[in-house]
Amino acid sequence: MARKIRFVEPAKLYKTIKEEIDQAYFEVMEKGDLIDRDQLKSFERNLADFVGTKYAVGLNSGYDALHMSLRAASVGEGDEVIVPAHTFVATCSAVVNVGATPVLVDVTKDFNINVDLIEEVITPRTKAIIPVHLSGWMADMPRVMEIASKHKLAIIEDACQSLGASIDGRGAGSWGLTGCWSFYPFKMLGGYGDGGAITTNDPEVAAFATRMRFNGEDRETGEYHGHGFTCLLDNLQAAFLDVKLRHLPHWIERRKQIAKRYYQGLSQIEDLLLPHYEKPGFDHVYQNYTLRSKQGNAFSDYLKEHGVEILTQFRKPYYKHEALGLVDRGFPETEALSREVCSLPMNAEIDDDEIEYVIEVVQSFYR
Ligand SMILES: *Cc1c(COP(=O)(O)O)cnc(C)c1O
Repeated sequence: MARKIRFVEPAKLYKTIKEEIDQAYFEVMEKGDLIDRDQLKSFERNLADFVGTKYAVGLNSGYDALHMSLRAASVGEGDEVIVPAHTFVATCSAVVNVGATPVLVDVTKDFNINVDLIEEVITPRTKAIIPVHLSGWMADMPRVMEIASKHKLAIIEDACQSLGASIDGRGAGSWGLTGCWSFYPFKMLGGYGDGGAITTNDPEVAAFATRMRFNGEDRETGEYHGHGFTCLLDNLQAAFLDVKLRHLPHWIERRKQIAKRYYQGLSQIEDLLLPHYEKPGFDHVYQNYTLRSKQGNAFSDYLKEHGVEILTQFRKPYYKHEALGLVDRGFPETEALSREVCSLPMNAEIDDDEIEYVIEVVQSFYR
């Protein structure tokens, strides 16, 4: 047993697109195009087209995208924002950092917000909902949109893990006021450093984010439109992301193929809950292949001991971290899944025989 299966291998992926990445790098360097130049504009156009929105605005991170979206929706002091109890903490921190109160809602077996539980926490102070599309699978947006329009709430999609996912052909990040994107290196579309964006169909939101990412300045007139931030997507990262975006459709196909193979190899093990859901029209792009094993740490430790790098996000739900000062109203599904989650290696660069090895290790645990 000398095998080691990595969770992701950015250097291996780089080798497959080295010529294009290197060319993008040299072009940026030789022209000295560092801030807000053609490469950024090109990437923004291509991202908007890919998602299916009129605009995309490049930012420094997914967190910035959430933060900027909340400000664009005028969320602040005294407002409440509904967020899932199971997500990456940034979804919630962005709400706290604009002075609003996050109101947590439990998730369902697909790891996304339980839409049946949303209306009971809506109050006159509720201003927005942030549905999160976790692991490449979208929240039930038709129903979320219905609730939002009934109660006149803004929808900010945390789509950081679901670039390319869709419902009835309509892309993640094109439903709400904004879609929020992260290009953190290990996301579906990862840069070589931090990066993010919002997508939107609203010209005023796009203009707002475009100014606020650059200290509030309208770069054509020099006028400051408000106290802003410094969170512009680097031109160099945009050039890299533009190259990688062209490859994303076939990388997604590869992820789906891997998911199918995992399903074939593991679906007969009764103890496992696999991330395959029956929902007509929903398209899963498998940012993560997160399964649930009732054996919890015994299962995940066994995989690690046999050289399979896995993620167990998150054994401790974010609202249980005392320093965050959040209200734990009891979220049974989140609690249960936190003990059981385990994400298997899932990336575009992994080889078939590595997938077979992972399947073998999981099977041997249950033997
Ligand atoms: C990665 C991620 C974020 C934050 O993105 P950063 O670019 O790391 O700031 C927010 N929400 C979700 C669901 C994420 O996966």
